[in-house]
Amino acid sequence: MAYTFNHLDLIQEVLRKSPFGLITDVDGTISQTAPTPQAARVSPLCRRYLSILSSHLALVAAISGRPTAQVRNMVGVDGMVYIGNHGLERWAENHAGLSNSAHDYSRAIKSVVEELTPLRSIEGISIENKGVTVTIHYRLSPEPKVAEREILSAVAASAQARSLRIIKGKMAIDLLPSMEVHKGTAMLGLIQEYNLHGGIYLGDDLTDIDAFRAMHTANRSPTFRGFTIGILSSEMPERLVAEVDFTLNGVSDVERFLRWMSQNVPQPN
Ligand SMILES: [Mg+2]
Repeated sequence: MAYTFNHLDLIQEVLRKSPFGLITDVDGTISQTAPTPQAARVSPLCRRYLSILSSHLALVAAISGRPTAQVRNMVGVDGMVYIGNHGLERWAENHAGLSNSAHDYSRAIKSVVEELTPLRSIEGISIENKGVTVTIHYRLSPEPKVAEREILSAVAASAQARSLRIIKGKMAIDLLPSMEVHKGTAMLGLIQEYNLHGGIYLGDDLTDIDAFRAMHTANRSPTFRGFTIGILSSEMPERLVAEVDFTLNGVSDVERFLRWMSQNVPQPN
């Protein structure tokens, strides 16, 4: 496993490329995991360094499974680009806009939430309707393994839910439209839009794997070089480590890394 702080020379090389973009996940990456999504807060140090970086870099973006308006309120750094609902929704000019094809899914998501409603009577399970995606949380369950099984069997029993993309995350199950839009396509879109020559992606969970893989795709271009960094925690799915270039140990290490970046970002002449 390659620990980020043992390879700062390589990262420094990428950081010199211009235009450069820093793209980060939110929960579990710049925000400690909390008992409920509402209780999570972005680390004030991360916010401070992201704000410094956004005034020096071509792009600083946050991509999250949360709805975009929520991501923007949570991170709260002006000048950053916010993408929510796993890439389906983007914050632009003071309002959240859906990618065109995502619109069709909001009705289906509503009926999925209705079909899965019986799950709400199980202790510790909550269903979050995010418009074009659904997250079923079980962090508060006294028996998480049992809760996970109950959720998966309810999903399997619902024709509507079954047809969605099912992603098992940390103490949560995400149901996403089965279209090819995810954190990876969102990141590739940003690389193209900002004509990036260098980039770093930070993430901690299974939905970030799409972005990790997309970074490898982007690296096939001779004009682009990017790294992926996985944030380790006791809850981190093992599969994740195999997908990243480097690792950091928890949100406190992300704070240190963003501080290092803000001190080492090339200054404009
Ligand atoms: Mg996360």
